[in-house]
Amino acid sequence: MKKISWLIVSVSIFSLSSLSAQTQKTKPSAKTFPAEVARPKLVIGLVVDQMRWDYLYRYYNRYSNGGFKRLINEGFSLENTFIPYTPTYTAVGHTTIYTGSVPAIHGIIGNDWYNVETKKNIYCTEDSSVVTIGSTPSSEGNMSPKNLLATTITDELRLATNFKGKVIGISLKDRGSILPAGHAANAAYWYQGSTGNWITSSYYMKEVPTWIADYNKLKLANKFYAKNWETLYPINTYLNSTSDEKDYEGKTSTFPHTLAQNIDKNFDAIRSTPYGNTITLDLAKLAILSEDLGQDNITDFLAISCSSTDYVGHAYGPNSIEAEDTYLRLDKDFEEFFNYLDKKVGKGNYTVFLSADHGVAHVPAFMKENKLPAGIVSDRDIVFKLNAFLNNKFKVNNVVLKSMNNQIIFDHDKTDNGTVSFDVIKAASIEFLKRIDGFTNVIDISRIAQTTLPEVQKKMITNGYNARRSGDLYYILDPNWFNGSSTGTTHGSWNPYDAHIPLVFMGWGIKPGASNKTHYMTDIAPTLAALLHIQMPNGCVGEPITEITNK
Ligand SMILES: [Zn+2]
Repeated sequence: MKKISWLIVSVSIFSLSSLSAQTQKTKPSAKTFPAEVARPKLVIGLVVDQMRWDYLYRYYNRYSNGGFKRLINEGFSLENTFIPYTPTYTAVGHTTIYTGSVPAIHGIIGNDWYNVETKKNIYCTEDSSVVTIGSTPSSEGNMSPKNLLATTITDELRLATNFKGKVIGISLKDRGSILPAGHAANAAYWYQGSTGNWITSSYYMKEVPTWIADYNKLKLANKFYAKNWETLYPINTYLNSTSDEKDYEGKTSTFPHTLAQNIDKNFDAIRSTPYGNTITLDLAKLAILSEDLGQDNITDFLAISCSSTDYVGHAYGPNSIEAEDTYLRLDKDFEEFFNYLDKKVGKGNYTVFLSADHGVAHVPAFMKENKLPAGIVSDRDIVFKLNAFLNNKFKVNNVVLKSMNNQIIFDHDKTDNGTVSFDVIKAASIEFLKRIDGFTNVIDISRIAQTTLPEVQKKMITNGYNARRSGDLYYILDPNWFNGSSTGTTHGSWNPYDAHIPLVFMGWGIKPGASNKTHYMTDIAPTLAALLHIQMPNGCVGEPITEITNK
C-alpha cells in the first residue's frame, strides 16, 4: 500500500514537472513576485569622527576578526570615496552623509558660520527656543536641527513608514547626533560634559525615557576614569606610531594617561579618551534593547557617531600612539557591538554602514621633522594684516570682519557705502593674501566660474558655497597647511587626507567585495534609499552605488 502511493506521488510530480517544462517552451509561466517589499529590520549608521580611509589598513594587522576586519571582509568596501565639497568639517560631513546633499543646498556650511545680518556667529545646531531635557538646564541642551534646510534619509524613512519606523541618533557631540537623526526623529541624545549625563532637548520630548534617566544615574565616566588610560598592548609594540614624548602633541601627558583625578569633577574629559566611544556604543546597545529597535518588520534606523577618535586625533595627530590605541580599542568595541546586533536583531536582519565625516592632516611639526612640507596660518593674523593693508590703501577701517572656514567675510555695511567699490576691495585683497606664505590661491566665490582653478577644487568650493551663509573670498592653502597652533592638528581642507573617507556597507542586502571606483559622500543616502525602496532626501544630489547589492 505504502509502495503504491509513493509510486503515484512520484508519477504525478514527474508529469507536473514535464508539463511545466513543455508549457515554458511555448509561453512564459506566471512569475511569483515577492508578496511584500523586502527590507532590513534595522539600519545602523556608524560615522567615525575624523577616520581617514587609510586607517582601515594602517592598523589592519592588529584588528580583531569581529570589528573593522569583519566589515571589510564580510561587507563591501568602497575604497575611493571622497567628500565633494570644502571646508571639510564635522557638522557638514554628518549632514552630507545623511542628506546626500551639499552645503550649497542643505545649508550646514561649517560647525559655525557668521551671520552677516546679525553680525553674530551661529553654531550649526543652536536653537534658543528649546531647552535641555534629562539634566540640569545648560546651553548644551539648547539644540535642534532647525538650521538644517533639507531632509535626511532618516526623515525619509519616517515619512515612508508613516512615522512608524523609529529613528534615534546617538553621539557625544550634539551635531553628531542631531544632524544625522534629522527633523522627524523620535530622539537624538548627546553628552552633557558639565554633568556626565546623556541629554536631549525639548525639540524632541518633554522628558527622557526611564532607561536614559536610570543610565545617567550610573555616572559611567567615573568607572572608566578609575581605570586610567593605558595602552591596550605593551607600548613597545606600537610600531605604526612615533614615540610618545613629542612636544607637538596638543596635550602634554604621556602613557599611562591618568584620569582618576577627573572622578566626579570633570565629566568632559572622557571625550578625549577611547572610553568616549565605549560609552557611546554602550548607550546604543541599551537603545536597541529598550526601544525594541529592529524587532518588527518596519525598518528602524539608529544613527551613531563615535566622536572620541576626533578629540584624540586633534590633540595627538595621526602618527601618535594615542590614535593607534584609540582605533584598536574602537575595533574591540565594534566587535562587541556587531556580536550584540547578531544576537538581538539577528545576523542578516540588519544593514550597517561605516563612514567618516572627514579625515585629518598630519601635525605640521611632525611633517617638518621628517622633511615633509607643512605649515600653519592664523585666522586672527590674516584679519589683522588684511585690515591694515586695506586701511593703508583705501582708508577703509576694519572692513574685514572674519576669517573663518577658509573664507574672508567683509563688513557689507562698509563695502556697500564706501568710496571704493567692493570689487576693487576684493581684487586688492586677493592680490595681498596670495603673497602670504602658505596661500596657494584666493578666489572671489561669486566669480568662481571665471577663475582658473583645477576642476576638483572648483567643484568642491562651489558645492560648499551657500549663497546666504558663506563668506566673500575663499582661500586655498598649500597642502598640509591650515589655520591652527604649533601643537596638535586639524582638518577642513580640500586635500585627500581630509576628503578621502572610508565607506563600507555590511549585512542585509549587501554582498562581500571591494571596489576602487570613485564614489562620493553624497552617494550614501541615495544608496540607502535604493536599498530600502524609499524616496531619497529632498536635497539629494548623489547617486546610488549599485555594485554593493546582492541582487
Ligand atoms: Zn568631525
